[in-house]
Amino acid sequence: MSQAAANAMALGLQSCETCMLLTRPAAGAHEGRCPRCGSETHFRKPASLQRTAALVVAAAICYIPANLLPVMNTTTSSGSETDTILQGVVLLWSPTGWPLALIVLFASVMIPSAKILALGYLLVTVQRGSVRNSGQRVRLYRIVELIGRWSMVDVFVATFTAALVQLQPLMSIAPGPGLVFFAAVVVLTMLAAESFDPRLIWDPSSEQEADDV
Ligand SMILES: [Zn+2]
Repeated sequence: MSQAAANAMALGLQSCETCMLLTRPAAGAHEGRCPRCGSETHFRKPASLQRTAALVVAAAICYIPANLLPVMNTTTSSGSETDTILQGVVLLWSPTGWPLALIVLFASVMIPSAKILALGYLLVTVQRGSVRNSGQRVRLYRIVELIGRWSMVDVFVATFTAALVQLQPLMSIAPGPGLVFFAAVVVLTMLAAESFDPRLIWDPSSEQEADDV
């Protein structure tokens, strides 16, 4: 009895990431070209783990100045002030402002760190060839990918500005250096999720099934 399910790689087939056409590369070749649309085809995204790891490490490094450097320089009638993300959260925290403070905290501190941790966990388990919790790990990857599609910078800036305007009359507001690192964290984690090949999560299980047959 042959297996009911087999993956394309085990059958020597590659699917085009642009038009999804299944093709067979030349014997012994690891890369091919899609005959229909001309895109390069691979069994798996090339150097997926190395690229993802480099981007996750870069994001983790940028996460530190993103939280330590001021993200906003505000000038009001009572003087000018620079605030980091967490100082902003504290500033916004009031009987009426706490929902906005929570949104800023969630969008700018918790989600980016959760993305970095989730990608790190996926990298380590794939590197180790883990066969456990593959279903949950794919779901985790989908969540990270989905979150990456919203730009957290927009959410953050809009909420922060709206809240500050409510607090006191603003004379001017300027972005601080922390915002650049914050944007870098968002972009780097998006690129990391993009370069990760979720098919790698299932490869150890497929190999094990192939050995059992
Ligand atoms: Zn194609």
